[in-house]
Amino acid sequence: MRSIDVVIVGASLSGAAAAKRLVDAGLETIVIERKQLPRHKICSGILSPRGHRFLLENFGPLPPEVLHEPTSCRGVTFHFPSMVSMPMDFFGGTTPHLHRRYSDHWAIRQSGAEIHDQTSFVGLQDNGDHVVVSARSRGEPVEYRARRVIGADGPSSLVTRALYPDYPQSIPWFFVGQKFHRIIECPLDPQYFHFWFHPGLGHYTWSHARDGRQIVGVGFKRGDNFARKHRIVVDYLAAKHGVRLEPEDDDDEGCGENFGPSLINRYVFGKGNVLITGQAAGFLNMIGEGMSCALHSGAISGEAVVEASLRNRPVQDMYRRMIASEVRRTSDQWNPLKVAFDRPHEADFPAALMALSWRDRAKVMRDIWRFLVLYKEFKWGRKILQAALQRPWIGGYSMKRWL
Ligand SMILES: Cc1cc2nc3c(=O)[nH]c(=O)nc-3n(C[C@H](O)[C@H](O)[C@H](O)COP(=O)(O)OP(=O)(O)OC[C@H]3O[C@@H](n4cnc5c(N)ncnc54)[C@H](O)[C@@H]3O)c2cc1C
Repeated sequence: MRSIDVVIVGASLSGAAAAKRLVDAGLETIVIERKQLPRHKICSGILSPRGHRFLLENFGPLPPEVLHEPTSCRGVTFHFPSMVSMPMDFFGGTTPHLHRRYSDHWAIRQSGAEIHDQTSFVGLQDNGDHVVVSARSRGEPVEYRARRVIGADGPSSLVTRALYPDYPQSIPWFFVGQKFHRIIECPLDPQYFHFWFHPGLGHYTWSHARDGRQIVGVGFKRGDNFARKHRIVVDYLAAKHGVRLEPEDDDDEGCGENFGPSLINRYVFGKGNVLITGQAAGFLNMIGEGMSCALHSGAISGEAVVEASLRNRPVQDMYRRMIASEVRRTSDQWNPLKVAFDRPHEADFPAALMALSWRDRAKVMRDIWRFLVLYKEFKWGRKILQAALQRPWIGGYSMKRWL
């Protein structure tokens, strides 16, 4: 059995950021990844300015092969049923449009950690002074003995399930699917990510250009018919926005997302010598932007391990203390007062709203309210709405609710 300082589960952006901190501090670090690298990851790939800065500062300039066409994105455009459209540019200019297959592989290699791909985490045993990690590598069982383990294995994290078997039942889940279309004519600006606040289309509806095709994506509940929901959106785009698309190609895809832990303040950070980070811990920003908080939380998990080793302090205390700023930043994105009077997002919603006429502003506020009411349909919707409305008055983010 190989003995090392740290095993990271998941060769994604949070794993790469954690690995960078550990390797820089001289800790022997292995990253295990269940897929063969470079691996596919379903994602629009629109990196926020904060995520972009993180990559530049930690991994250097992005090579051209880690980008999709169009290679950059100016911001997000919100569309409303009243046919008001609100483009919002990112603060500080355009950001890169990442091709996750290559960007994540580039970042993990830049971290300097040893990478074991086609190696799936299966389970762990924390023995107090070390953790035994069980995995399967190319079909064969393999074990690692590590001082610490970091779970950076995304929304369906097996590391989280190993520590908290009931956790998946205690948070909201939703499903997203996307299809790819050749473009006949598309008046939607390819420099923006487009999002619809439209109760008739669904709770999460988006479209953007990628590599000469148009992505049309939609969120749905378990049991919904994805193909039917997708067709409704395609027909709507044609009727209302003049978008003419070829029938979808056959490489559609979808997944389940642990939406909501950041909204209901129910993050998971680990136990004993095992830390959880990135989306596995619950970090996901509003409208599903998760790369920037994956990078930052990942780096903090790595720093917590380094600090705990240097100061001989309990790593969980260290991590919870250090992660508090990232929790606040992510949860503030859902705080209506912060949205109205502060700038918790990376594009200027209040300024875009104020640029509209009084009449259009009123329509937008009415449309957003009707859209939020849609969430009541969900098992978790009422709880999420309550949390959002309470958020401005509860003030802080109680650490007691973090697991
Ligand atoms: C349709 C869609 C569009 C999105 N668009 C955007 C966007 O435009 N911008 C944005 O910022 N965010 C977007 N996101 C969210 C973003 O993709 C995630 O929040 C982000 O990738 C989370 O990073 P992570 O490092 O926490 O985990 P992940 O990226 O989920 O990576 C986890 C890694 O762990 C590996 N793994 C899982 N289980 C095991 C195991 N048992 N053993 C070993 N390895 C394992 C996986 O293969 C994977 O490589 C989107 C998400 C979806 C679904």
